[in-house]
Amino acid sequence: MRLYLPEIVRANKPLVREETIEFEGIEREVPQLVRLDPVRVRVKALEENGLFHVSAEQRARAVLTCSRCLSPFEKTLSGQWTQVFTNRADRAEEGEICFVEGDHIDLTPYVREAVLLEIPYAPVCREECRGLCPECGADRNRETCSCRTERIDPRLAVLKELQIPED
Ligand SMILES: [Zn+2]
Ligand SMILES: [Zn+2]
Repeated sequence: MRLYLPEIVRANKPLVREETIEFEGIEREVPQLVRLDPVRVRVKALEENGLFHVSAEQRARAVLTCSRCLSPFEKTLSGQWTQVFTNRADRAEEGEICFVEGDHIDLTPYVREAVLLEIPYAPVCREECRGLCPECGADRNRETCSCRTERIDPRLAVLKELQIPED
């Protein structure tokens, strides 16, 4: 997704652009990401004293792997970000401003970065997902296995170890 700087200057009001970006192969980089649909991006850009203020809203449907039950599930990833760019070397010194050479800003890397940040590190298909049985691997959302995985209450375990002196 590229913005043409002279066009933003000429617009004299926020320039709005919408685009759909496909990130091929991004699934290979994130283990919990099964599939990412094309990302819908809406960008507003405004020029002010040689600085280009860009704000973006983005949204995409994704299929993720639940970290508890390992089932795939759908989730909408949405987010927003802002970034200031300049093509003037004298302004690029200031703080978080990105210097761009030439007449275009390429926003695709920023969209990509934002998508990656929206993917949870340990996604869950639903809050009450019961996960897999650590003994037999059964999906505890769907079946009840006969494994005895309940633990002894640690407070009781302590009592068990106490030697009670006999009279
Ligand atoms: Zn789950
Ligand atoms: Zn089991």
